[in-house]
Amino acid sequence: MAESEAPADLVLVGGAVSTMDADRRTAAGVAVRDGRVVAIGTAAEADQLRGPRTRRIDLIGRTLVPGFHDAHVHPVMAGINLTRCPLHDLAPEAPVYLEAIRTYAQARPAAPWVIGDGWYMSAFPGGTPTRQALDAVVPDRPAFFVNRDGHGAWVNSRALELAGIDRDRPDPVSGRIEREPDGDPSGTLHEGAMEIVRQILPPTTVEDLAYGLELAQAYLHRLGVTAWQDAWVTAEDLAAYRMLAERGKLTARAIACHWWDRDQGGEQVDEIVERRRTGNIGRLRANTVKIMQDGVAENYTAAMLEPYRAPGGGATANRGISFVEPELLKDHVRRLDALGFQVHFHALGDRAVREALDAIGAARRANGPSGGRHHLAHLQVVDPADLPRFKQLDVSANIQPYWACNDAQMVELTLPFLAPGRATLQYPFRSLEAAGARLVGGSDWTVSTPNVMAEIEVAVNRISPENRAADAFLPAEALSLDSALGAFTNGGAWVNHLDSETGSIELGKLADLVVLDQDIARTDPRRLGDTKVLMTLVEGAAVHEDPELERP
Ligand SMILES: [Zn+2]
Repeated sequence: MAESEAPADLVLVGGAVSTMDADRRTAAGVAVRDGRVVAIGTAAEADQLRGPRTRRIDLIGRTLVPGFHDAHVHPVMAGINLTRCPLHDLAPEAPVYLEAIRTYAQARPAAPWVIGDGWYMSAFPGGTPTRQALDAVVPDRPAFFVNRDGHGAWVNSRALELAGIDRDRPDPVSGRIEREPDGDPSGTLHEGAMEIVRQILPPTTVEDLAYGLELAQAYLHRLGVTAWQDAWVTAEDLAAYRMLAERGKLTARAIACHWWDRDQGGEQVDEIVERRRTGNIGRLRANTVKIMQDGVAENYTAAMLEPYRAPGGGATANRGISFVEPELLKDHVRRLDALGFQVHFHALGDRAVREALDAIGAARRANGPSGGRHHLAHLQVVDPADLPRFKQLDVSANIQPYWACNDAQMVELTLPFLAPGRATLQYPFRSLEAAGARLVGGSDWTVSTPNVMAEIEVAVNRISPENRAADAFLPAEALSLDSALGAFTNGGAWVNHLDSETGSIELGKLADLVVLDQDIARTDPRRLGDTKVLMTLVEGAAVHEDPELERP
């Protein structure tokens, strides 16, 4: 089915094409012209549109899928980390860290500070690295490295000097300065003590944010992500997005969520309306407000219907925190909905989920149906009574499948503390789907990986690729491959208001496409996360290309 006979710019032929259209049609060839899909069909049909200047991509043994949507991600935050010296992915050994820091610092002689994060305490005796070790690789400038859990920092002598931390400086009330036997600071600062140095770090400029965002965008394109919803955008972050979009460098489709300041009330709405007005440039849109209704289960701040259990199993009265008082939440959501905003909730505990649904219900009663396409992210615990309300209220379920497994977070920090009977209500993806909820996928990067194929592996197995020998976590809640892929393509496109142009491979739609290195329908489902993205296209233009694409 070709739209016309003019030559295509690009044909992709000979493999599995998962169109992810409403009928889930498959094909073996796709042709692209002027950024749009102009033919879908057999390899021969696509090949017919080849002209002398048409590029041909071989799909044999590969899969072509629509560009991925990440419906909950933090690229600006992630990008700032990418501009710094990351230690996260290295072997947790002092010499490895020191070599990486030396290399990073030497490559950036003009940077006034050397900043990074991600070291493991276990790499150093007593968990406390020394200033002398850091001085050896960064002798000329201050250096500041936060550890992996964010509760401590490793600094060099120059940083201590600039911050005025010496043997005479007392520990701050909220922290501790690790010291040598004679009282001199040894180079590790705990909790509040690291803030003394953090305060004197060079301020992050909008230019810095924009540079980080560009790095994050490249990172996400390498994983096949072509569109996302940035779940927490400040005025400065929006300025960075605008800067990138104005320079023509925003290749992704980005939806910026204005952060709802829970310390304020409705008085912030006018400013959000004004920011929305300035947020439509190129592929940037800014019509969403993010409301964080509760915290996280691991520190008992997720809002629960039933109280948490104490360590050891006793009862407590703690049901977590509703950050916005539920009646006020109804008022705010009613108003935002009437103003045409989409509301993106952080709703993790079952009480937060209910309060968010109640607020959307209030908006529906007051305003009737709207085009806001509201959604609830995280959904760690959902009361069964609330499952059908997603469909009834036309609310999408924004799921983070990577979390639905028996990892340490779950086994050590969550399961022992949930009320009896509530642990089995976690991440109920299959139940939500069965109740008619639209599923949309998100990573919450940098909280966890934005590797969509790894997220899909967990969605279909409920086992982490980081520990494939573990038992499946509530396997009855596993999704099919089609449903999981749908959440990251057409589901995400819906919630991003981009479904008329992206989210499926269809005639006339934008050619936002991803070439995967294997036929994912035939791959061992327990190895889906090993799938590599060979090429990512936005409107037919390559934004990522792996050398393996053009194999001999
Ligand atoms: Zn988040």
